[in-house]
Amino acid sequence: MSNGTWSIQYGRDDIVFDVLFVKRKSMEVAVHPDSSVVIKAPIGTATDEIEKRVLKRARWIRKQLAYFGQFHPRTPQHRYIGGESHLYLGRQYRLKLIEGDSGEVKLSRGYFWITCKNKSDPKKIKNLLDSWYLAKAREKFIDSFDRCWPNFERLDLAYPRIQIRRMKTRWGSLSHSGTLTLNVSLIRAPRECIDYVITHELCHLKYHDHSPDFYKLLDKVMPDWERRKHKLELALI
Ligand SMILES: [Zn+2]
Repeated sequence: MSNGTWSIQYGRDDIVFDVLFVKRKSMEVAVHPDSSVVIKAPIGTATDEIEKRVLKRARWIRKQLAYFGQFHPRTPQHRYIGGESHLYLGRQYRLKLIEGDSGEVKLSRGYFWITCKNKSDPKKIKNLLDSWYLAKAREKFIDSFDRCWPNFERLDLAYPRIQIRRMKTRWGSLSHSGTLTLNVSLIRAPRECIDYVITHELCHLKYHDHSPDFYKLLDKVMPDWERRKHKLELALI
């Protein structure tokens, strides 16, 4: 039996969890702030024993996941009206809406200046701002990747493909085929938090789970990752 990601049905949902076989006497069930569920089991523990334990703790696991869920990306109820604050790279900027044909968004002197034909149409303002965020995400995520990648160059890993998506519950992910997906909303977070998410995902190029080796690598390439992660969790994005 080797380390891996398992899942088990509980009620209507599946609980997905990482199993790590380690030198220890008893099983440990933990839920981490990134919503990963990790079971540490003594080497040689049978599959059904692990599943039984997960089911036994299922209610508690759900509760923990719900608690940490509060800190995940959440789309605040924006109204897209003049004076409202929106984040960009960790800073708040207020909206200044201007009636005009150009349909442009400019960031200047602490404000988002949005020129729109019908400035009292929140949908139009939202669309303009969303496209602006996406364009900035394309640019800034690549900058961030370029800052982070040198730490991994010596590990002889395949260069990942990068894509940007709207994601509901995660900041980023890395597929088995090596595609790094980033949540467009991350552009609202401070640069150091963007670097943290990218670094975390790049560590998955080497270790696909959250094993001790994974954390060893993360500690090595970004010794202050916990502080950055905490900052991201507190950012009201
Ligand atoms: Zn991860």
